[in-house]
Amino acid sequence: MSARFACTACSGTLELRAEGVSESLACQHCGAVLDARDPKHKILARYRQKLGAPPKLPIGTMGTFRGEKLQVLGLQRRAVRYSGVIYSWDEYLLWNPYKGFRWLVESNGHWTILKTVETKPKESGSGV
Ligand SMILES: [Zn+2]
Repeated sequence: MSARFACTACSGTLELRAEGVSESLACQHCGAVLDARDPKHKILARYRQKLGAPPKLPIGTMGTFRGEKLQVLGLQRRAVRYSGVIYSWDEYLLWNPYKGFRWLVESNGHWTILKTVETKPKESGSGV
């Protein structure tokens, strides 16, 4: 389920995907982060800089992976500095209303898909 509305900060057209599930959304026009659960979509944060290079998978992209239809709902750009070198990667939040969420991580052209577990894994007691 999705809904269109004007960004509270810049009036750009936005589409709220996964309505009722999403807690916030970032405006692709101005970078403001808006409250998805507030009917007036109040501004939670503003950013002066945009993301930089466009994401390899634009928000809203639909696709199929291993038989599951998934939609790109969000993106986190992350980085860490280790021994003076900056390593960065993109984490895409994928969603299927019947299957839940997946994370698709891209780093330097390598893709990894992750599924969140609901419970803590149990230790078997035996080492590998
Ligand atoms: Zn905006």
